[in-house]
Amino acid sequence: MITKDELYFVLALASILFILGLLLSFLARSSLGETSLEHQLEKALPGVQCAQCGYPGCSAYAKALASGETTCNKCTPGGPDTIKELADILGIDPPADESEDMLFAPRKTAFIHQSLCTGCHRCARKCPVDAIAGDIKQPHYVLTEECIACGDCLKSCPEECIELINVDLKLKNFNWNIKSIRITGGSK
Ligand code: SF4
Ligand code: SF4
Ligand code: SF4
Repeated sequence: MITKDELYFVLALASILFILGLLLSFLARSSLGETSLEHQLEKALPGVQCAQCGYPGCSAYAKALASGETTCNKCTPGGPDTIKELADILGIDPPADESEDMLFAPRKTAFIHQSLCTGCHRCARKCPVDAIAGDIKQPHYVLTEECIACGDCLKSCPEECIELINVDLKLKNFNWNIKSIRITGGSK
């Protein structure tokens, strides 16, 4: 025979388990929602992985878009069609196409002030494209052609001796990446 106290205990336990179940299913649904938004955004991107959006690839850009960290007009190779598709997925009005402005905007690169660098190598470990070189305990330097100016190394440097600078607009510094130029018309 079950006593009153035992019955209350069983009922309380069942209620707690029910509430925990609801909580877990809510958390699972919200994280699935996030993943599928990221996935839809990534599918709409061209997959060129050129980092001109300021992120080290299409999936990083899709993640930043899903979290609201950036706007949907940063993908130069995608151009206006991609901006519109991303805006549709996000349920917002498409912002202006910045791709032409970005094409002619000054290119940036990280720069290390070598007199302050202790050679701790933290920046190099953080760089997503292996654009920082240097032996341990020796001043490090940036391989400008590889750097995508993501800024990750700046945050990792304990000496604060890295900054982003503009690359001078000289012919030898122009990025001749024909794949990044969207051709919409022409003549014979
Ligand atoms: S600019 Fe576009 S194609 Fe290039 S990495 Fe960013 S999202 Fe991908
Ligand atoms: S900004 Fe720094 S972390 Fe980012 S690509 Fe350039 S060197 Fe690497
Ligand atoms: S994190 Fe700073 S101090 Fe360390 S190696 Fe890089 S630039 Fe030098």
